[in-house]
Amino acid sequence: MSQGYLPPPIDEHNAVFWENARRGILSVEQCKNCEARRFPPRPMCPHCQSTQRGWEPVSGRGTLWSFVLPHPPLLPEFTDLAPYNVIVVSLIEDPNLRMIGNLVREPGGAINAFDSTQIEIGQRIRVAFEAVTDELHLPRWILD
Ligand SMILES: [Zn+2]
Repeated sequence: MSQGYLPPPIDEHNAVFWENARRGILSVEQCKNCEARRFPPRPMCPHCQSTQRGWEPVSGRGTLWSFVLPHPPLLPEFTDLAPYNVIVVSLIEDPNLRMIGNLVREPGGAINAFDSTQIEIGQRIRVAFEAVTDELHLPRWILD
């Protein structure tokens, strides 16, 4: 079995993120008291300790902050795809907002199809959602 993703656990803290993703919107949590954005979501603001929070859309643009090229042994969902890339994205709105994903050649492209010798720290990238199921649209990343 090789599919290139693990179904994320969806709960009360991240359900809005995944609902937005299904509509093609990348979003991050934002404190309703001090307006600091944060990702991944958590119940309390690390800046002002407020528990009042909501979700705000972001542009979906960022820079490639780091990456790795995993090789076996891997989970069965990824074994046949290795080597592929796993990237850390720093969002343009705030470099401290970071997300994990994969760099693909085009929307819906395979996670092992991007030439790894062409991956560079600092590349401008943007989100490209992949509908892996009707319910689950994963944020992948393409060159901007
Ligand atoms: Zn706050």
